[in-house]
Amino acid sequence: MKINADQINLITKRGLRGDLKSFERLLDFLEKYEGISVIKYGMYSLIFQIAMNKFIDTSKDCEECGGKCCQIGYPVPVYGFDYEELRNRLNTDDLKKLEKVGNNLFLLRRPCQFQKGWLCSIHKIKPYACLSYPFATEDEQKEVINSYDGKGVPDFKVPEYCPAGKRVKDIMNKIINDLINKLGRVPTPRELYNELKSRYYRNEETTSK
Ligand code: SF4
Ligand code: SF4
Repeated sequence: MKINADQINLITKRGLRGDLKSFERLLDFLEKYEGISVIKYGMYSLIFQIAMNKFIDTSKDCEECGGKCCQIGYPVPVYGFDYEELRNRLNTDDLKKLEKVGNNLFLLRRPCQFQKGWLCSIHKIKPYACLSYPFATEDEQKEVINSYDGKGVPDFKVPEYCPAGKRVKDIMNKIINDLINKLGRVPTPRELYNELKSRYYRNEETTSK
């Protein structure tokens, strides 16, 4: 069965929200194209993203930080597939917080009006750009992706002000180094995911902003 880009994006969001069957289905699909550098980059990036969303509890870091990622930076992109989810769940006033800038593109200006204290008031339906923070959407990753040659695990950048991202990166680096020592080579995305899951799987939700 063929799946289109929007379906892949929705499966990705389900996965990042903790539906591991969806996430593993996505890895199965992407693995067929792992020989392409940009796909391999994306797979490693997704594994860092799910580490932050599902496996590693960063709630204390986010609470102490106060939710800076929702307050500073460029506007958050909200794509068509995000909008479809939001449209069904938000009231008319809340939908007006999204600024339409193209056929299939909206923006949420920061400071984001959906932030309540340090928390996101639309946590369960927040856009992909928020779910993937900071390992995919930030401008800093542009350099990392442009210089990635398909060898090794990308050295993702984390903004100075984001202790949660730093914690996740440190933990992931430790897992990667342990795997390098064990295997004698850099782990594939699947090997990295399996090791992350075996160390951190808990059948409960973690809380991030
Ligand atoms: S993800 Fe990073 S920047 Fe955002 S609230 Fe958590 S610690 Fe702060
Ligand atoms: S939608 Fe939620 S997570 Fe995204 S910027 Fe707004 S408050 Fe932050």
